[in-house]
Amino acid sequence: MNFSWSEEQLALKKKMVEFAQGELNANLEERDRCSDFSRENWLKCCEAGILGLFVPAEYGGLAKDIPTTILAMEGIGYGCRDNGLTLALNGQMWAVQEPILAFGTVDQKKRFLPPLCTGDCIGAHGMTEPDSGSDTFSLKTTAIRSDGGYILNGSKSLIGMAPVCDLVIVFATTNADLGRWGQTAFILQRGTAGFTVSANREKMGLRTVPFGELSFENCFIPEENRLGPEGGALSLFSGTMEWERSFIFASHVGAMARQLDEAVSYARKRKQFGKSIGKFQSVSNRIANMKLRLETAKLLLYQAAWRKQQGKASALEAAMTKLHISEAFLQSSLDSIRIHGGNGYLSANGIERDLRDATGGVIYSGTSDIQRVVIAGMLGV
Ligand SMILES: Cc1cc2nc3c(=O)[nH]c(=O)nc-3n(C[C@H](O)[C@H](O)[C@H](O)COP(=O)(O)OP(=O)(O)OC[C@H]3O[C@@H](n4cnc5c(N)ncnc54)[C@H](O)[C@@H]3O)c2cc1C
Repeated sequence: MNFSWSEEQLALKKKMVEFAQGELNANLEERDRCSDFSRENWLKCCEAGILGLFVPAEYGGLAKDIPTTILAMEGIGYGCRDNGLTLALNGQMWAVQEPILAFGTVDQKKRFLPPLCTGDCIGAHGMTEPDSGSDTFSLKTTAIRSDGGYILNGSKSLIGMAPVCDLVIVFATTNADLGRWGQTAFILQRGTAGFTVSANREKMGLRTVPFGELSFENCFIPEENRLGPEGGALSLFSGTMEWERSFIFASHVGAMARQLDEAVSYARKRKQFGKSIGKFQSVSNRIANMKLRLETAKLLLYQAAWRKQQGKASALEAAMTKLHISEAFLQSSLDSIRIHGGNGYLSANGIERDLRDATGGVIYSGTSDIQRVVIAGMLGV
C-alpha cells in the first residue's frame, strides 16, 4: 500500500477545502435549528463536480480514481461544517450512484447518472422498513410481476433524503419462497402513481439532511427499472454496503481534522490558573487521543480506498472502517466539547452540533453492534 499523495491530488483536496469553507457554511446555525435542507448548497456541490468525482466521463462525471475521490471528500468535510450535507453527498455517491454504476444496464447508467451528477435529480436508498432494521432481509415490501414490469406495495422508513428524492433504489420481495434470494432491487422514480414521500422528520442531529418515509401503493415499475437480476438484491445490497461502509465517513474524517485543529488552537489560547489549559494533562491527553483517533481513522479509510481501487473484496475492512470512524468521530466530538468547556456547550459556537451529528453515525449503514457481528463473522466466530 502506498498512501503518499501526488501534488495534483493534494491540490484537489485544497480546492475542495476552500470551496467548502467559502460556499457551504452560511446560516448553518439557523438551518440546523430549523432542519432546513439547502438545495442551493447541494447545487453548488454539483457544479463543483463533487457528485461526479468517481463517475466515468461518459456518464457526466470527472472519472477520478477512488483514493482521489476519498481525499477530495475528506477536504469537503474539513471545510464544510454541515455534517448533514456531507452525509447526504456521500450517501448518494456510495448508496445510489455506485450501485447504478456497478449493477445498472448501460441504458440505466445513461438515464440516471448524468442528472444525479448535475443535481437535476436527487437519489435515496430505501432498505429500512418499520419492522426490518438491522435484520434487513426480513423486509415486507413486495414487487409482484405484472405485464411489462412489477407492482410494488409496502413502505420504507428512516430514509435519508426521502422527502426531496426524485428517485429511490428500493428493495422488495419478488419471490417469497426463496427468502433473501427472492429479493430484488428497483429504481423507482418520483411521479410514479402510488409513490408518496413523507414530510421531513425532526431528529437529534444531521438536521440539514431531510429524512422520512416512503410509501408504495400499487406502484407500477417497468421492467427496465429493475436494477440487477431478479433475486439479485442480496449481492447488490452487500456490494453496496462495502462501498458505503468504507467511504460514507470520508468527510467525517475531514471534520475530525478540523475539530482537532480547533481544539489545539483553543487549548493554547484559553488560560486558566495563569496558564494555557493545554498545559493541564487532562486536556492534553484528550488532544492526544483525538490525534490518535484521527490518524487511525485515516489509515483505515485510505486502506479501504486502496483495496477498492485494486478491486479487492473488502467486507471485513469496510465494517472495521465504518465502526472505527463513526465511534472515533462520536468520542472526539465529546472530547472537543469538554476541551471548550461551557463554550463548547453553547449552540452558537457550533461545537455541540458535531456531537449530535456524530451520534447518527453509529446507527446508519448498520449499527456498531452489527459491524462487530460482521467482523467477528468474517473471522470465523
Ligand atoms: C441518520 C440516519 C440515516 C439513515 N438513512 C437510511 C437510508 O438512507 N436508507 C435506509 O434504508 N436506512 C437508513 N437509516 C436506517 C438505519 O440503517 C437503521 O436505523 C439501522 O440499520 C438500525 O436499524 P433499526 O433502527 O431498526 O434498529 P434495530 O435493528 O431495531 O436495532 C436496535 C438495537 O438492537 C441492536 N441489534 C439488532 N440486531 C442485533 C444483532 N444481531 N446483534 C447485536 N445487536 C443487534 C442494534 O445494534 C441496536 O442497538 C438511517 C438511520 C439514521 C439514524
